[in-house]
Amino acid sequence: MSLVGKNIDAFCSRCRLELAHIVLYEVGGAVHRVKCKTCGCEHRYHGPRPEKRREVPAERRPGKESSRMQRPVRPVDARLWEQRNASTDADAVVWDYQWTENYEKGDVVAHPQFGRGFVEKVTADSMEVLFREGRKQMAINRPRTMTGEGNP
Ligand SMILES: [Zn+2]
Repeated sequence: MSLVGKNIDAFCSRCRLELAHIVLYEVGGAVHRVKCKTCGCEHRYHGPRPEKRREVPAERRPGKESSRMQRPVRPVDARLWEQRNASTDADAVVWDYQWTENYEKGDVVAHPQFGRGFVEKVTADSMEVLFREGRKQMAINRPRTMTGEGNP
């Protein structure tokens, strides 16, 4: 049974509201891409509005920094990150980073280790994210097989 063409409630990253969407296509029985009936923009389906502010601010990690944060931060990246962060609305949607998910340029993501990041480039299975400590290649769109959840 296909969901394509059906209505679905989804969070629109442009309208920043949970609104009626139309399913454009699905992958493996899961809704993959939707079109907002309000603003008409097409975007990937993230499900209902994500919980906001679940990310752990980088500052809130006392102690551990010395052992793990030894890598030098390129000042240029840190400065860019600060600019992006400052120009991001306070109520911007922050998606939890998951390597099975699909992101778009301009998305704001929260990574459990690197904190907030800004998606700068996206390819079929990876993206480049600007974190405060520098740009990183992150896997995206990968199959869920390794989690052992295995849908029937
Ligand atoms: Zn919309």
